[in-house]
Amino acid sequence: MNANTHLSGNRLGDPALATAGRIPALLRARINRQTACSMVTCVHCGECAQSCHYALARPHDPFMSPAYKADQIRKIFNRHLDWLGRVFPRWVGAGGKTEETDLSRLKDIVFGTCSGCRRCTFNCPMGVDNAALIRLARGILMEVGVVPQGMSNVCRNQWEMGNQMRVTEEDFIDSLSWVRDEVQYELGVNDVEIGVDKEDCDFIYAVNPREVKYDPRSLINAAKFFYLAGESWTLPRHGWDQTNFGLFSGDDRLGAFMAGNLYQAAARLRAKRIVVSECGHGYRSVRWEGYNWAKHNQTIPTESVIETIIRYLREGMIKVDRSRYRASVTFHDSCNVARYSGLVEEPRWILKQICSDFREMHPNGMNNFCCTGGSGLLVMPEYRDIRLEVAKIKAEQLKTTGADVVCTMCHNCRDGLGDLISHYQLDMKVVQIMDLVAGALILPEKQGS
Ligand code: SF4
Ligand code: SF4
Repeated sequence: MNANTHLSGNRLGDPALATAGRIPALLRARINRQTACSMVTCVHCGECAQSCHYALARPHDPFMSPAYKADQIRKIFNRHLDWLGRVFPRWVGAGGKTEETDLSRLKDIVFGTCSGCRRCTFNCPMGVDNAALIRLARGILMEVGVVPQGMSNVCRNQWEMGNQMRVTEEDFIDSLSWVRDEVQYELGVNDVEIGVDKEDCDFIYAVNPREVKYDPRSLINAAKFFYLAGESWTLPRHGWDQTNFGLFSGDDRLGAFMAGNLYQAAARLRAKRIVVSECGHGYRSVRWEGYNWAKHNQTIPTESVIETIIRYLREGMIKVDRSRYRASVTFHDSCNVARYSGLVEEPRWILKQICSDFREMHPNGMNNFCCTGGSGLLVMPEYRDIRLEVAKIKAEQLKTTGADVVCTMCHNCRDGLGDLISHYQLDMKVVQIMDLVAGALILPEKQGS
């Protein structure tokens, strides 16, 4: 699909063309079995309010309840798609005609008061997937151009450049060459290769553009581990961005475009596996959602780099010194990694090889609270105040552990946690698993000693 064709068809960033009258048709076109069930099964028991950090942080504000947020899209469904609502709208609480002002309010609710963490869904006795309804509403608002500018900008970057930070091909290649030099320097060797578009490798490595543009430490660490393990790996020239704002914006076509770029690169280069760097929503998009968006029959296995590192440690391909790291460490489960993807024990297994003082936060695993920066909230500054206000739930959870360091396996969580740690002045550092593994790594000349 041509990106520019899509942009003009999607009317991104052109609010003048926003049409409230298109909403029912868009809803009808996008609703599926999962969202239709969630539209009709809520019994308004209020249980989900006990799960949501927005509702917990503002216990007297009914607008923060997950059911209330979902009801805003449910009203449109009841008015236009539900037969009872069409005949007796008041009976089912259906909304009236949808106006432009309603859309602006809906935008602030679905983009500004939900981080898509899905904690409410896990705690709903009826299995209502409020996060899926929120994403459905976001996708419809994207179609009519009623969308926060930051979200629109990043989506545009992905459509136009194939990556969310507008990294040019030249800058990408330059950064990789710098990363190779740094790895060689740190390891004291001169034969490190960071391949681009190499065919028939064991795996293709997909990264978050943040690793290329702002924070190469993660890529340096990965390249170091891959070198020590003797891996045959490559980055693709196109399709290297594993992040996917199709997930956050609700735009399945963008989801298909981004995930498809990576799947096609893996097939073109005949890679045996796809390995995704530490990124929660990127992993979820590539590993689970992308196949459906791209209607792709995936035959190439996908894993998180955390699973790759576990294999290296288990098979002795890299070695770590457990006595080196003395700080107390707790772990933050990313919603997209734990709740959505089931990777709970894997990061803990690694941390237990490295940290002598590991402390669980509570709740944890699939029941953990969001870092509060999920679903693209970090690129929508207009919602920063409320994001940091409700982050007090997470701040309290972190503080109670008494740990010196909070570790996560997601770039987005790292930024979200960093922001709230600074806002609440917590005496705590935030790191990622690869940072800790790199810090404990026994370099080759010392291995075997
Ligand atoms: S979404 Fe689930 S938990 Fe929340 S009010 Fe509806 S039925 Fe109850
Ligand atoms: S998905 Fe998370 S942030 Fe959104 S309503 Fe549910 S619990 Fe709240």
